[in-house]
Amino acid sequence: MTTDLTSRSALAPYISAWSAEELLPCLFTEIPGRGIAYADERVIDRDEHGVLWARMSWAPRQGRPVLGQVHPLRHRQAMRRLHCQVCNSPADQTADGVLWLLPDHRDDRSGWPEGIATTEPPVCLPCVRVASRACPALRRGAVAVRAGRYPVVAVRGGFYVTGRVPQVIGDELVALTDSRIRWVLAHNLVRQLHDCTLIKVGDLSTN
Ligand SMILES: [Zn+2]
Repeated sequence: MTTDLTSRSALAPYISAWSAEELLPCLFTEIPGRGIAYADERVIDRDEHGVLWARMSWAPRQGRPVLGQVHPLRHRQAMRRLHCQVCNSPADQTADGVLWLLPDHRDDRSGWPEGIATTEPPVCLPCVRVASRACPALRRGAVAVRAGRYPVVAVRGGFYVTGRVPQVIGDELVALTDSRIRWVLAHNLVRQLHDCTLIKVGDLSTN
């Protein structure tokens, strides 16, 4: 999620990167024929799936939030723990599932959003109204979705190819089951939403 609330930075989403934070300069190396690694790699650089994650310094709420950029670790934690991407408290959950707030793409295909892969962590109920007003992408039309199943299926990140030193050639969403995952430097964790129930944002009760 992005926000234009730079003048009201207290409302910036938990997962946002801040201007005092920066991607750390790193030296990459190639595991011959198998993928990339940090030259000084530590155990914490990879997640439980063996995926390598981008390193960013940690200075939340220092400076201003950076539009459209998430902090890789805060994003990964919120998505993995099913915490609200705005306030980092547990996301709302009922018998119908966990709550997501998404740009309205119902015109894209029938059945949307069943089966979509999303980089958006879920939300809690109190943050729904704030987020739907604050995020430019959501102001154009947002829907709330309860997903009954939401497995972690992929990461989004920089995709590297072999070279004298590994070279990044773009940003890709790569499934955990794809052998190319070893060539990705992840910055977003991706869940796939199933058993979806659509709800109008205005119909969500915060009581
Ligand atoms: Zn929240």
